[in-house]
Amino acid sequence: MTRQDLQWRHRGACNRMSPELFYISSDTNPQHARNQNQSAREVCGSCDVRDECFDWGIKHEKYGVWGGTSESERRNIRRQLGIVRRNVSDGTVQTLVELGKLVAARQKVVA
Ligand code: SF4
Repeated sequence: MTRQDLQWRHRGACNRMSPELFYISSDTNPQHARNQNQSAREVCGSCDVRDECFDWGIKHEKYGVWGGTSESERRNIRRQLGIVRRNVSDGTVQTLVELGKLVAARQKVVA
């Protein structure tokens, strides 16, 4: 991974927002967690780098909202596409699915 791989993050709609909105603590009460998740997804809905963020989230992120998807949605997408996340020698996670396929899968889950 190079520094350039993450350049899109600077253009994210959440760039200057509190990361806490996008990471829901496991001890948050369920109703508050749903509201928080919905608020985060609304921010993602107007984000110019949503596709790039989703791609990153599928490949690298277990926790939080990425590209408008929740943790459980990304787990389901990985399962549906048969994506196996595996750690490679440099500690990153590698998948073999093209971005276009990932975006199509996300569009089935997130309006
Ligand atoms: S898609 Fe959502 S989490 Fe990703 S950069 Fe945009 S606002 Fe942030």
